[in-house]
Order: sequence, then structure tokens, then C-alpha cells
Amino acid sequence: MPGENLTKVEAFTRSRLITVKGYDIEIDLREVASSPTFRTTSTVTFLAEPGESSFIDAIAHTVHRVVLNGQELDPADVFDDSRILLTGLKADNTLEIEADFSYTNSGEGLHRFVDPVDDEIYLYTQFEVPDSRRVFPVFEQPDLKATFRFTIHAPNHWQVVSNQPTPEPTATENGSTWAFGATPRISSYITALVAGPYEAVRDELVSSSGKTIPLGVFSRKSLSQYLDTDYILDITRKGFEYFERRFGVPYPFEKYDQLFVPEFNAGAMENAGAVTFTESYVFRSQVSDAVRERRVVTILHELAHMWFGDLVTMRWWNDLWLNESFAEWASTIATAEATEWTEAWTTFQAMEKSWAYRQDQLPSTHPIVANIRDIEDVQVNFDGITYAKGGSVLKQLVAWVGEEAFFRGVHNYFVKHQWSNATLSDLLEELEDTSGRKLRHWSELWLETAGVNTLYPEVSVDAAGVITDFQIRQTAPTSGRRFGHTVWRWASTTPQRTAFSSESGAPNSTLTVSSRR
Ligand SMILES: [Zn+2]
Repeated sequence: MPGENLTKVEAFTRSRLITVKGYDIEIDLREVASSPTFRTTSTVTFLAEPGESSFIDAIAHTVHRVVLNGQELDPADVFDDSRILLTGLKADNTLEIEADFSYTNSGEGLHRFVDPVDDEIYLYTQFEVPDSRRVFPVFEQPDLKATFRFTIHAPNHWQVVSNQPTPEPTATENGSTWAFGATPRISSYITALVAGPYEAVRDELVSSSGKTIPLGVFSRKSLSQYLDTDYILDITRKGFEYFERRFGVPYPFEKYDQLFVPEFNAGAMENAGAVTFTESYVFRSQVSDAVRERRVVTILHELAHMWFGDLVTMRWWNDLWLNESFAEWASTIATAEATEWTEAWTTFQAMEKSWAYRQDQLPSTHPIVANIRDIEDVQVNFDGITYAKGGSVLKQLVAWVGEEAFFRGVHNYFVKHQWSNATLSDLLEELEDTSGRKLRHWSELWLETAGVNTLYPEVSVDAAGVITDFQIRQTAPTSGRRFGHTVWRWASTTPQRTAFSSESGAPNSTLTVSSRR
């Protein structure tokens, strides 16, 4: 009985055995008003080690049919908890599954919302971390990338949005059908389906590649009058221009839709080409500048993920901190340099960095690079260490290697690993290359230990009560005071002149903390 968990060992074993080619996924939403479930019919093609066994994930209400390489399997034999067992694999496999899945109201999987204003139904998916398996059968782990081709049956008057551009619907019995083109090879957690009578505002921009990228901004009908679409599109354009220029890589997807959806659990989600946002970013009355600025950072955070996260994806969830920290760093620098919110780093200092300091002094703190043994570990690690300390330390890394070298390294990382997966060491390798600095030791000090350093004063006074020596000393959290290291010193050798010196030898001393152990 595996429950709903998935361990890293299981995932890595599976990715050694299997290469997924693609998914053809047909979802029927036409009975959304009357049924608590929807029918998904899917075909998965994948390569495998012949003779081996594995499993595909599915948190289904009812599995009706499983056919592996033409052979009908009894769901009662092969479906248990959240997995469908696959035995006797061939080199080239075709798996067909027909199952019913449940709409949710928890914001995981396919969320169903009924608007109290007009009784209209709105749906959207949220799949990170492991919830695409609540909508279709899937090898649910970030390193098993594949193409996804969605076909959606839905009510006639709906908008249907996914990762690929929305096709013209064709009329069917009591509804319409949207047959989307296949996605590039992406991870399942960034696939998306948003459907309902959403109001859409459309525009477009020209990418640095010369391609026209259609843009869309969506909200539910009863809220659309409040949405300042022009402003959101303006920030989006600035973000595209900034990231394409600094990353040196054109926007990797075919279109960019941004959808404000009801009852969303987080701030936003970086589904490839179909970003979802909380409706609290639709301002129905005056809000503070802090909230307006935060929305800009969030828009740019999700856009940055299109490259870092979506084009190149972490191999396993232990690099989730890097995914989030990069997006947080990239969105803050873009906000400061490409929008009117030029003081974004001050906000970052006040909000993120102080959040990180606070979290890092709690008993619950952990190294930024945490051991993520399974999916349950991921859920408890989505915290201020992941987002805020990670983001702060990444800013330090940029300062350490230099901004130009950092962006060149990031460019090389995107080019080398595009449409694939990578790890922290892949990124550090590129940064070492472009900067000439060794980063292994930095990584050990800052990413693999927890806690904040302590600064304390040491004052010497002579018989007359005059201060003769004043130092600021620093200790690492586990080393104790005995091992304090001087980071700043005032010494008066002649009473008339004041001299500042530092044991560390750095000019002007260093009140910026350098952790030394
Ligand atoms: Zn993010």
C-alpha cells in the first residue's frame, strides 16, 4: 500500500527504467454541472527496459480500463491507492487508461468553483507538487519529461486554456471540443487546464526571436471590471524584454496567458505559458504600494520560471529551493531595473531577508539544501528558508561571481540543458566557468548549514575608562564564542587620530557577514 507518497529512490529507479515519449489526454468536462467526477481517456507511449515492471501514478475515483500493449488488464488487479502496476514491459510501450477523476475544492488537481454572483462554474488545475495524477494517469516526477496533447470537451460558452495556444473549438453533442497541439517536452507539474466562462483580454508582443507571442489576461466575469489589464500587460512586456536580453535566450513557449483564478492557494503558479494567479491580485479597492509592488514581483517571478523551472527543470525536488530562489532573485532585479519599482531590493531586504533571518533562528530551521527523501518532505520544506534565505544567498552568489558572469553562466545553463533537467551542481559548474571562481566551498558554507551567525562586541578599556580597543566579532552557530572571528575593529593607537582596521584584511572592514568556520 504505497498511499500517495513517492520516494526519491522509487522515482530515480523509475527514470532509469523509463523514457516517456508522450501523452494523449482527453478530458470530458461536459457534465461539470451535475457530476462530481470527470472522465479522462489517455494514451501514454514510453520506452522501457524490456521485461521490467514499473507503475504509473493515478489518484482516480474509478479506473474503468487499462490496456498495456494491446493486453487488457483488470483494474482490480493492477490499481491500488495511487498507482497502476505495469508488468512485463517491452522496449516500446503503449498504455491506454480510461478513468474517472474527482473535481476538488482544495486547490489541488482540478479545482471547481461556483461563482456566487452568477452561478457560473470555473475550473483550473494546480499540479505542483504531485497533483497532475489527480487529473490523468502520469509518471509524476519532474525528470520524466514528455509531450502532452490535450483534447478537452467542455460547454460551448467556455474559454479553454492550456499550455499550447487555444485552438478553434468544434461543436459536438452538448458542447464543444478543443484539440490542442502537443507541448514541447515538459514536466507534468507545469501542465495546465483552465476552463470556464472566463473574460479574456488579448494582445501580443514580438519576441527577440522575431516570433509573435500571443498574450492573454483572464479573470472570471464578475471580477473582470476590476482588472487593470493594461498595466499587467505593460509589466509583462517589460519582463519579456528584460529576461530575453539578460538571459540571451528567447521566450521558449508559443504564447503567454495569465489567469486570475478563484480560491487559489498560493500567490501564483508557473504553468508553462498558462500562469495562474490568486484573485487577491485583482484589486477591488485601493491597495497599498507594497501590495502593488508585490504583484509586479509576482508577475515577473512567474515569467522568470518560464526559463528557470520550465525550460530547464530541477531533476528532483531537492532543488526546489533553487527553482524558487532563482525566480525570486530574477524577479526582484527585473522589478528594480525594468519597472517603476526601482527600490525593489529595499523591499527584498525588509521582507524576504528579515523573514529568512527569523526562520533561520527557529528550532525548525534547516540547511537551504535539504534532504528531500520523498514527496512528504517537499511539502514541509516550502518555507522561508526555501524562498527567502535561498533568495538572499543567491543574491550573495551573484555578488561573489559578478553580475555579468552570473548572467553568462545562466545563459550557458539554459542552452546546455534546455527541455531537460539539471541540478544545482550543473548551475555552479557554469558559474565557475564564466567567473573563474571555485564555488564548492561557498556551497558548503551557505547552502549546507543552517542558522545565522552571531555578531558581538568586544571592548577594552584602560584604567581611566577610555576605550582602547573595540571589535565586532562573529561566530558561526555551532562554533561557540571561543572561535569568534573579528570582522570589524576600531583601534586607537594615537588618541588624536582614529584608525579603522580589520583582521580579515579587507579594506573598510566587513560588516557584511562572511561566514568562516
Ligand atoms: Zn515560484
